[in-house]
Amino acid sequence: MLIGRRITVIGAGVGGLAVARALALHGAEVTVLEQAEAIREVGAGIQISPNGGRVMQALGLGEDLVRSGPRCAGVELLDGETGARVVRLDLARLRPQEDYRLLHRARLIEILAEGARDAGVQIRLLQKIAAVDLAGPRPRLVTEQGAEIETDLLIGADGLHSLTRAALNGKVAPFFTHQVAWRAVIPCAEGEPPVAQVFMGAGKHLVSYPLGHRLRNIVAVEERRAWVEESWSLRDDGLTLNAAFEDFCPQVRGWLTQVDQPWLWGLFRHPVAGRWFGQGAVILGDAAHPTLPFMAQGASMALEDAWVLAAMLARHDEDAEAFAAYQALRAERCAAIVEAANRNARNYHLSGVQRAVGHLGMRLLSQMMPEKLVGRFDWIYGHDVTRV
Ligand SMILES: Cc1cc2nc3c(=O)[nH]c(=O)nc-3n(C[C@H](O)[C@H](O)[C@H](O)COP(=O)(O)OP(=O)(O)OC[C@H]3O[C@@H](n4cnc5c(N)ncnc54)[C@H](O)[C@@H]3O)c2cc1C
Repeated sequence: MLIGRRITVIGAGVGGLAVARALALHGAEVTVLEQAEAIREVGAGIQISPNGGRVMQALGLGEDLVRSGPRCAGVELLDGETGARVVRLDLARLRPQEDYRLLHRARLIEILAEGARDAGVQIRLLQKIAAVDLAGPRPRLVTEQGAEIETDLLIGADGLHSLTRAALNGKVAPFFTHQVAWRAVIPCAEGEPPVAQVFMGAGKHLVSYPLGHRLRNIVAVEERRAWVEESWSLRDDGLTLNAAFEDFCPQVRGWLTQVDQPWLWGLFRHPVAGRWFGQGAVILGDAAHPTLPFMAQGASMALEDAWVLAAMLARHDEDAEAFAAYQALRAERCAAIVEAANRNARNYHLSGVQRAVGHLGMRLLSQMMPEKLVGRFDWIYGHDVTRV
């Protein structure tokens, strides 16, 4: 039972805000501690696939999501150099009942933050947690300003560099994949088809889709030897990005000339955490299972976690039982999605003969058995955690 339960969440990101609203709707008194001075986001697009959309719906935020960006009508894989289409997956025709949304990250965070506040959640900004101590009878936090906070139940939704994960599992050094991603949002014309396009080249690829509100999202990935920081807030020069994709088709080059200062982000692989809970604390989202972006599932997995964790806490009298049920329901699925993202990176970057054969195979499959191609990821998109 959660009525009147006091719960502390670290992190007002996708997972933290979603779990806060879900718990508050069950009657808990939830406080979210966020390091930033304001709830805002760097400019970037995000895809919410049907599995994440179902959670938004169940949280009562489905209509806001639908109003916030276009429904993705299809996915196209193209040869980056020539711009020729290799495969088109017509989602509107093959999966008419499934809603894949394309939107701005800032809008998603805004919807979740409003939803959390409306449910009575307190969001406290400028609360950077410097230490998470799980050695005592109750979880204890120390903020950067030196304030101490004790809580009965701590949820670590503190993302990629989670202190809560480290307190539960110790520190694990991630390994650099030797890939970097640039991100940018550029203007686009009203009414551009809401299709996610993947331009594939040897050792690199670029994904782009319209976000609504006359904006287009770009994520460009390149393999490289030199190390780049794993950060969401590092800027690069647009000229470097343009040079990296100068052999791509005119459509891509035209987009990239509009990019002045893209965000640059080193892509790292992290193992899925072995221990998701202990001593009154539990982790979710990127804190538990950071993923490479190649399945666009980071935010949807965080939404799924949030729903399942709140449901288990509401169902079980003992937190430890709820946490164990939550990890049992989530760990295997999240590990499989993280692995699928790892594999996708390799598939997009083929070169030489492998590339010709790979493209031919995909083309044939899409013409003869489009259902099979689109159905490959039904286990991800068709999943409905709101039925647990
Ligand atoms: C700015 C940003 C841009 C991103 N861009 C992309 C992208 O382009 N493509 C992609 O696939 N994925 C991206 N991600 C990751 C993706 O959005 C995540 O997989 C998804 O949001 C998971 O949600 P989460 O709640 O676990 O973590 P996040 O959404 O990362 O939220 C974590 C929150 O915790 C806060 N926090 C962290 N440490 C502390 C602390 N010590 N004290 C207080 N607060 C703390 C952070 O400020 C943040 O608000 C991005 C994440 C961020 C934060």
